[in-house]
Amino acid sequence: MQSPEQNPEAMKAAMAHVRALLSFIGEDPDREGLLDTPKRVVKAMHEHFRGYSMDPAESLGRTFKEVDGYDQMVLLTDIDLQSHCEHHMVPFVGKAHVAYIPDGKVVGLSKLAKVVEIYSKRLQVQEKLTAQIANAIQEHLQPLGVAVVIQARHFCMCYRGVHQPRAWTTTSRLTGVFLENLATREEFLRLIAIGRND
Ligand SMILES: [Zn+2]
Repeated sequence: MQSPEQNPEAMKAAMAHVRALLSFIGEDPDREGLLDTPKRVVKAMHEHFRGYSMDPAESLGRTFKEVDGYDQMVLLTDIDLQSHCEHHMVPFVGKAHVAYIPDGKVVGLSKLAKVVEIYSKRLQVQEKLTAQIANAIQEHLQPLGVAVVIQARHFCMCYRGVHQPRAWTTTSRLTGVFLENLATREEFLRLIAIGRND
């Protein structure tokens, strides 16, 4: 996705569609309070969907090996996640927990959060988002295993449809030792349970 400044024609076209939506819901797009709304919506969309112009290979491609043989779990918990469901284009928000067990290669810790950002700033379904994060880490680091758990609330379920504002959706993807070794899986699940009373 190009920035609004990079492609003024596309921005104009998108703004015209926002105006049409405002008319569709019964509004007057020319009233004072709404005059700048199309521009604001398009700019906000650029922010919400910036993940399309980001490549996980850039974040995960820079690995390092100098870790004195560290071969235990690397775990980043409570990564804030804001995404949009591809069925209704409304937010789903929550947290991601990402772990891997290195096989010689590690990556900067912030890169794990970056991968969550890259895939969540696109239109998504939570199941696919979970798999994409795990697959990207598996592909680039080739670790002994990856574990990704996402817990989120979906606005399309909170404020429309079944109206379940307190329901959490949990998805997980485990590979390698997290799948095969019960002790490793239980250690991961115990560690992500810390501080989970919010
Ligand atoms: Zn939805």
